[in-house]
Amino acid sequence: MGNNVKEVIEKVIDDVKARNNGEPEFHQTIEEVLHSLEGVLEKHPEYIDASILERIVEPERQIMFRVPWVDDNGKVHVNRGFRVQFNSAIGPYKGGLRFHPSVNLSIIKFLGFEQIFKNSLTGLPIGGGKGGSDFNPKGKSDNEIMRFCQSFMTELYRHIGKDIDVPAGDIGVGAREIGFLFGQYKRIRNAYDAGVLTGKGLTYGGSLARKEATGFGVVYFVNEMLNYHKDTFEGKRVVISGSGNVAIYAAQKAMEHGAKVIAMCDSSGYIVDENGIDLSIVKQIKEVERKRIKEYVARKEGATYVEGQKGIWTVKCDIAMPCATQNDINLESAKILVENGTKVIGEGANMPCTNEAVNYFLEKGLLVAPAKAANAGGVATSALEMSQNSMRLSWTFEEVEEKLQVIMKNIFEASKNAAEQYGHAGNYVVGANIAGFLKVADAMMSQGV
Ligand code: GLU
Repeated sequence: MGNNVKEVIEKVIDDVKARNNGEPEFHQTIEEVLHSLEGVLEKHPEYIDASILERIVEPERQIMFRVPWVDDNGKVHVNRGFRVQFNSAIGPYKGGLRFHPSVNLSIIKFLGFEQIFKNSLTGLPIGGGKGGSDFNPKGKSDNEIMRFCQSFMTELYRHIGKDIDVPAGDIGVGAREIGFLFGQYKRIRNAYDAGVLTGKGLTYGGSLARKEATGFGVVYFVNEMLNYHKDTFEGKRVVISGSGNVAIYAAQKAMEHGAKVIAMCDSSGYIVDENGIDLSIVKQIKEVERKRIKEYVARKEGATYVEGQKGIWTVKCDIAMPCATQNDINLESAKILVENGTKVIGEGANMPCTNEAVNYFLEKGLLVAPAKAANAGGVATSALEMSQNSMRLSWTFEEVEEKLQVIMKNIFEASKNAAEQYGHAGNYVVGANIAGFLKVADAMMSQGV
């Protein structure tokens, strides 16, 4: 049986590679997830008979479209838009939109695939999807952003709906963009369907604590993991890559738990502040002024700035939290972290470590909080936003945060239990994949081919 299962998995991986040529990020996530499912397939041969793996790696629908828009000088530009509706077994497709010049089909598919398992882990009824564009928001005026979002939604609107597919933000898409997208959706549909997008502003259907949720959730998850291993954040040196939504609120919550955050970065370079980063300065620079993080050193004595983002992993820390983007920590950086005594990895971004880096950490006995589980607080709170929209009422910040805390605790428990049950105690990477997969596979089995 064991051999047969291995063969089935390798065949599906080979087929994915052959069918999805030139999509390295998508191949990476498929290999990572499928390799962790061996024990599940041994226990559930019916999943093999029903070709669950072959079905789950193929998106239900992939949409690619032209996004033409006019800049402030009257010049016409064309970008490419994507929405990959990956899996709707347990609920409407749900996942963010990423606007970044690196966006291509491979990246949207890897994100969409990860989203299936992450959303399942939240325990809420949401399927997996993702979208975005290769549009670069950097340096664009508010009016240019608005025209781009309106053009993007002019095509996207026909594919989404509160019971069909519910986009939200991701890199390059925050409350400003969601507002422009929602305005255009409403204009075209002539209906106030608040639940069609999440991450909305608080005056028009957004949820309190949604902005903070991903970062807070990462720290709640890591805290559960630390507590289980008889440890805490208290007095720990923490390095966080990124300075966006996830990084800022992960830093805030880590500090509230008694940690000292000493380094953060953006795509140009990183800052080190041995006295502990002053988050109000980072928030002012990033959220209000939309400037580069290097501005920090001019505003805080004793802080230093180093050009180049990768170097952030040479800063000595107990806990490393990659909260920027995919493949931020490769094997080389992983070795430096281990050499410097890092004991815990909390993944805030999606797939922020290469598969080689994750395997190295696990080999060396580090605790790894995998992104699918640890950063699920964002999408979980999006689902809470959908609930509030359906009920036409809003919960207080405390109510939402309390629910988020319970959800993150449950996700840790589910990942821990699945890891133990399948003979991988302490490996939360495998545990999260198994726990996320089981619910979706069961739903797919129930719903037939
Ligand atoms: N983009 C976020 C993620 O990676 C949130 C998605 C959502 O809220 O739908 O999970």
